[in-house]
Amino acid sequence: MNAIEKAQAAGWRKIYFNIGTIPYWAVHIAAVVGLWLTGFTWVGVAWLVGGFYARIFFVTAGYHRYFSHRSYKTSRWFQFLLALGATATVQKGPLWWAHHHRHHHRRSDMDDDIHSVKQGGFWWAHMGWFLADDFEATDYDKIKDMAKYPELRFLDKFHVLVPIALGVITYFAFGAVALWWGFFAATVLSWHGTFTINSMMHTVGRQRYESKDESRNTLTLAILTMGEGWHNNHHYYQVSCRQGFRWWQIDLTFYILKVLSWFRIVSDLRAPPRHIIEARRKHDRAEPDSSSNSSAGARPHVA
Ligand SMILES: [Zn+2]
Ligand SMILES: [Zn+2]
Repeated sequence: MNAIEKAQAAGWRKIYFNIGTIPYWAVHIAAVVGLWLTGFTWVGVAWLVGGFYARIFFVTAGYHRYFSHRSYKTSRWFQFLLALGATATVQKGPLWWAHHHRHHHRRSDMDDDIHSVKQGGFWWAHMGWFLADDFEATDYDKIKDMAKYPELRFLDKFHVLVPIALGVITYFAFGAVALWWGFFAATVLSWHGTFTINSMMHTVGRQRYESKDESRNTLTLAILTMGEGWHNNHHYYQVSCRQGFRWWQIDLTFYILKVLSWFRIVSDLRAPPRHIIEARRKHDRAEPDSSSNSSAGARPHVA
């Protein structure tokens, strides 16, 4: 019995509605009640859209492209700022997030990939795996390069304090509309925006590259998640900071990081080499000569 089977054996009630999931569902209820209480305004919508994209940026530029993949370099103070912003999105701490994500790439869609649709089903991959209390621990030994920073260990341990502080500041500085739309509703939307990477991006879309897993590319999700929708590209060549390999593959996170590099806030943004971009398409493997010629980039590239 693998770790997923063991966790799922407890039954769906124990996974989705154990005592530790109360805050998760409470934030959902708060988001809905808050929107109903304050009513529709364009100011509220602006808070929602701004809050949503700010959170997605910190998750993808911070937790994903920096802490998990080290796809660019930055200073220690900006590293801390990225960690602080990402921790405010209520997706646990930077070391927990990156540690689990690195494991996802090492074992993509294999029997011990904790949030695989193939192994655990759609809703398990979307949110069951972290709602179940089986995978809460962070193994610092598996993420030594980041765990060596005490400030990151502190944030990882006390991650709950950051969003609470943000919620309080938002309310007292900007009022109720900012709190309900820009904090609660934006948090819920950014959660599900992020979770679609694990659920939909391994189910819906096109597989451009032979990445040996179920990862897909989807334009709509790339726009929604600031570039993370090019998930098949990313699984094929993880170390690239740019996940949209072609000019038309919109990757908002990369554009922002590029601008930050002009101001020397970040540097060494890693790009996919030409032979990776032009690697044989997945469906080409069915061609008669595909096994006789060695094809550059026919295997997934790991960090
Ligand atoms: Zn990744
Ligand atoms: Zn993936």
